[in-house]
Amino acid sequence: MRWFPLFLDLQQRKVVVVGGGLIAERKIDLFQSAGPQIVIIAPRITASLQERVSAKEFQWFEREFEGADVEGAAVVVAATDRGEVNRAVAEAATARGIPVNVVDDLELSTGILPAIVDRSPLVIAVSTEGSAPAFARYVRARIEIAIDESFGDLAQFLRQVRGRIKTRFADLVERRRFYGQLLEGAVPDALRRRRPMEAADAFEQALVAGVAAGGRVDLVGAGPGDPGLLTLNALRALQGADVVLHDRLVSAEVLALARREAELIPVGKAAGYHSVPQEEINALLVRHARAGRRVVRLKGGDPFVFGRGGEELEALVAAGVAYTVVPGVTAAVACGAYAGIPLTHRDHARGVRFVTAHCRTALDGVDWRSLARDGDTLAVYMGVGSVARVEQELLAHGKAGSTPVAFIENGTRVEQRVILGTLAGAAALAQRTSVQSPALLVIGAVAALARDLAWFGAPPIDQDTANAPQARLRA
Ligand code: SAH
Repeated sequence: MRWFPLFLDLQQRKVVVVGGGLIAERKIDLFQSAGPQIVIIAPRITASLQERVSAKEFQWFEREFEGADVEGAAVVVAATDRGEVNRAVAEAATARGIPVNVVDDLELSTGILPAIVDRSPLVIAVSTEGSAPAFARYVRARIEIAIDESFGDLAQFLRQVRGRIKTRFADLVERRRFYGQLLEGAVPDALRRRRPMEAADAFEQALVAGVAAGGRVDLVGAGPGDPGLLTLNALRALQGADVVLHDRLVSAEVLALARREAELIPVGKAAGYHSVPQEEINALLVRHARAGRRVVRLKGGDPFVFGRGGEELEALVAAGVAYTVVPGVTAAVACGAYAGIPLTHRDHARGVRFVTAHCRTALDGVDWRSLARDGDTLAVYMGVGSVARVEQELLAHGKAGSTPVAFIENGTRVEQRVILGTLAGAAALAQRTSVQSPALLVIGAVAALARDLAWFGAPPIDQDTANAPQARLRA
């Protein structure tokens, strides 16, 4: 962030606008609701500005700009179509340490006028740091839809009751939870329906009732990485969280959607080692929930697919902690979609089997014969080190060496790579192309369909060309 947002008190302060055209007029409109004394410097101004000058809305100096005009101003705006005048205004203001905005000239500006959503006393300012004002206006329009007029009334309402809430809930954590419940409850709803008396009654009731006791845990699937694949329930849980315990697989973009005040605790698991032991994770979940917090346990993909979500719920049941489960898009489903591999294309597969090959112990109990035999697509959640074993066992149990395979590395993320080959030589291929975790291995005729159906990220790398230098370059 280069441009820092700051809200200025402009009541009765001087704002100098140089220029009297349509753009100047628009800037004046923007400032006017903040109640400053506006001074226009320009040889000519529009007819409607002239009317407003006659109505004493602001002052007009009918002449060219002089450096001393900026004296005593809180903010200066240069909105002329003459470069040399704009430059002179910028220099005069900057020399005196007064913020200046030069329309359409970021170089000369020391301040940016944001797009504003005015629901006073709630005010939202949007800036793209000058890179795309049209986009800022688009974002403002989206916010205006989400933050309707009643939010202004709500902000006003909260201003009035804030002191009482503070007295009633001296403890900060408890107070925050009260606010959380209040804002999800009947008060905003009544204000939206323009029933202020009803809102006041609902508030009094809430204040008496206090904070609902007991925290809870939402076991939430974060999907494979692309935040667009979160469910609305997952988003809701994240935005209401006091604490988020997350795996290493959860992408930064998804974490960024958590409530700002939420405490983020990485309990990352990487293949082969567990950085926080499972019992400790279970204990953390129970402890935070018992302290009355809303805990989100965030897991990559789906929490019940090779995610140990079941074990965590068992611990919660044992401790008597309330919970919900929000499913997520599991890696096999997501990688299939983003690599152009229809997992159960009816010409090529009867079904799909999710298999884990994370470590030796996971592989020891596998019924290789049944995996090798049937016409199901295999979606192998794997530690990269296990490919050789998977290849070897399947071949030894009669799976054809020519069976197509696909590695999908970092599925759904911008760095996604899809590498296509055959079962015979799969491990060597993974090594040659240095496949990294997280990666999913798809085995079956459908894997070859990625050649025609891939649509996301870099085009697939093919076994035959995987030796060639451009294969690495494309990655
Ligand atoms: N619960 C998760 C799986 C956890 S096991 C889910 O439902 O997806 C971790 C394995 O999932 C990784 O080793 C990898 O094989 C796979 N995986 C998870 N995210 C992935 C991604 N974005 N791309 C490819 N594979 C992924």
